[in-house]
Amino acid sequence: MRAAASSGVAVLGFTEHLPLAPELASRIPGAQGYAMPAAELPEYIADVTQAAALGGELGVEVLCGIEIDAVPVALEHARGELSRHSFDLVLGSVHFIDDWAFDDPDRREGYADWKSDELWERYFTEVVAAARTGLFDVMAHVDLVKKFGVWPDGPTRDLYRTLADALAATDVAVEVNTAGLRKPCRELYPGQDLLRALCDAGVPATIGSDAHAPAEVGAGAGEAREALIEAGYRSVLVFRGRKAREVGIDDI
Ligand SMILES: [Zn+2]
Repeated sequence: MRAAASSGVAVLGFTEHLPLAPELASRIPGAQGYAMPAAELPEYIADVTQAAALGGELGVEVLCGIEIDAVPVALEHARGELSRHSFDLVLGSVHFIDDWAFDDPDRREGYADWKSDELWERYFTEVVAAARTGLFDVMAHVDLVKKFGVWPDGPTRDLYRTLADALAATDVAVEVNTAGLRKPCRELYPGQDLLRALCDAGVPATIGSDAHAPAEVGAGAGEAREALIEAGYRSVLVFRGRKAREVGIDDI
């Protein structure tokens, strides 16, 4: 909270990972490290609510969000949790291809089983399917598949256009996530060509630093803003109570 206030972050959204569905947690290797344990969800919401009070004193608006892995087998679990708890925003994300956590540095050996073009195609298919579930306000880090610098050999234009059209058609926004700048891919999620395709399709955007430590709060916000402007965006969305409000790009 103090890191947000001192780095000029006006809106601080917490988006912890929803506890994994029991059927996933039991079969995915390393799953206990991917999300908070189920029992901690009420505590998380209480902690963020408490942080909001401190935020009020420091001039930082605090949002209680959640990030949900859009795994087909876990969607019912997600629906149930969303009906039991209320959040300001719900991020959807794809971290798994089948049972492979492709963005886990400890599971990088899995890349040897894929041709990069096929991996990218499969990943984007999963993101499009996730957007169509209707569960999410925003899709997070939409080109996470590039995290370790694995790029497709073929053109990406069709993949990008299909994703952009799907987000536009389902009324799901895209997160400009600065964590990619700190990963081997060394660029924002989404990259500039994809961001332009999203803007052209009329998909609204949010900004997040995906901070996992106080020092990362607000990191890369300037780069995100520049990328948005270059892509054609003039505003971003901020979600509260799952309702979006528009903030001019000059006001962030
Ligand atoms: Zn994520």
